[in-house]
Amino acid sequence: MTAIPQERRVVTAIPGPKSQELQARRTATVAGGVGSVLPVFTARAGGGIIEDVDGNRLIDFGSGIAVTSVGASAEAVVRRASAQLADFTHTCFMVTPYEGYVEVCEALAELTPGDHAKKSALFNSGAEAVENAVKVARSYTGRQAVVVFDHGYHGRTNLTMALTAKNMPYKHGFGPFAPEVYRVPVAYGYRWPTGAENAGAEASAQAIDMISKQVGAENVAAIIIEPVLGEGGFIEPAKGFLPAIAEFAKENGIVFVADEIQSGFCRTGQWFACEDEGVVPDLITTAKGIAGGLPLAAVTGRAEIMDAVHSGGLGGTYGGNPVACAGALGSIETMKELDLNAKARRIEEVMKGRLATMQEKYPAIGDIRGRGAMIAIELVKDPATKEPDAAAAGALAKACHAEGLLVLTCGTYGNVLRFLPPLVIGEDLLNEGLDILEQAFAGV
Ligand SMILES: *Cc1c(COP(=O)(O)O)cnc(C)c1O
Repeated sequence: MTAIPQERRVVTAIPGPKSQELQARRTATVAGGVGSVLPVFTARAGGGIIEDVDGNRLIDFGSGIAVTSVGASAEAVVRRASAQLADFTHTCFMVTPYEGYVEVCEALAELTPGDHAKKSALFNSGAEAVENAVKVARSYTGRQAVVVFDHGYHGRTNLTMALTAKNMPYKHGFGPFAPEVYRVPVAYGYRWPTGAENAGAEASAQAIDMISKQVGAENVAAIIIEPVLGEGGFIEPAKGFLPAIAEFAKENGIVFVADEIQSGFCRTGQWFACEDEGVVPDLITTAKGIAGGLPLAAVTGRAEIMDAVHSGGLGGTYGGNPVACAGALGSIETMKELDLNAKARRIEEVMKGRLATMQEKYPAIGDIRGRGAMIAIELVKDPATKEPDAAAAGALAKACHAEGLLVLTCGTYGNVLRFLPPLVIGEDLLNEGLDILEQAFAGV
């Protein structure tokens, strides 16, 4: 699968001297607004390992933010993308089309939930896909309002900043934002005032009441939700919430959009996270895991909704680039061949088992949640008050990094450690990573 030995190896301080040298050059020329979780410069990556320029090999619990689910150098992705590179790099699908784009749209029609007629349009980034889902929904409904949720994340462009909940770092100082965006509550079980068991029913009732009374259902073009909220803290809306919102959308002629950019493509142990409660979205946005690391995104949905837009109304110079499409076909081939949904479910089993044991010892772990290989722990100062502990999340991440385990943080309160290993990671590396996390708890 990959030439990189699947073994952790720490041979210098992290970051090592060569990374530090590169970091100095970076600081001189790369804009300060572009951050990095860990300034370790990558030489090679594949399977569950990132090898840096100093020869360290880190266990990867990040997958480049849920992108390299098949690994960062998956054989089928490299083979197909390389062959495509040699044939042609670009024509622009809007100038002269090519088969790869069509094949990706066929695969999306097959894999996304629902057996209705579907069509897709391809783009470069997740934010671009979300923007286009809004364009399609507005065009189809003739309405303007867009409803999103607390803790939601949908991107960094002007419209998607408006859709995103969290101010720092995503929105701060970047306004004014796009109008006609309305935010309503989500069923965040762990923090729901009357308890997780009531969150699904109460939050959906509140959200529906706000939409009906404050926006007017007949003004709403789209309701956009992540079936598992990513940047907001790997929040799984409590059971019943998604179906209730989807039903409300259907009753009121509102386009229901599932943003599966982070949760899609086997990440949660199903092709798409909304399948968990049998929700069939009208439109679904995908990106991240779709193409094994190459930049590709899509909007897929009911043919009559997608076709509401006039010819020429959707597109972009690079959207559905042929090399990225070849990468997607290689990535999907790998997901099917290796049954990565089953792998993701196995990762969940291993991780949740180990994390539950850690929670008994370390009550700072207030909540363990997520599905498949999209697992998180929420850290609190005291499990009784649930006061968020962002400092603990930061300190744990730092301790893991020093030992050669790459982990990421997230959450509205910055107190969530999230684990997004490549789905092809070996079980030995997975357990070794969890050993390092456990040691980090002992040290912090
Ligand atoms: C990452 C993400 C986006 C934005 O994708 P980009 O490719 O960074 O523009 C949108 N929605 C969700 C749920 C995401 O996780």
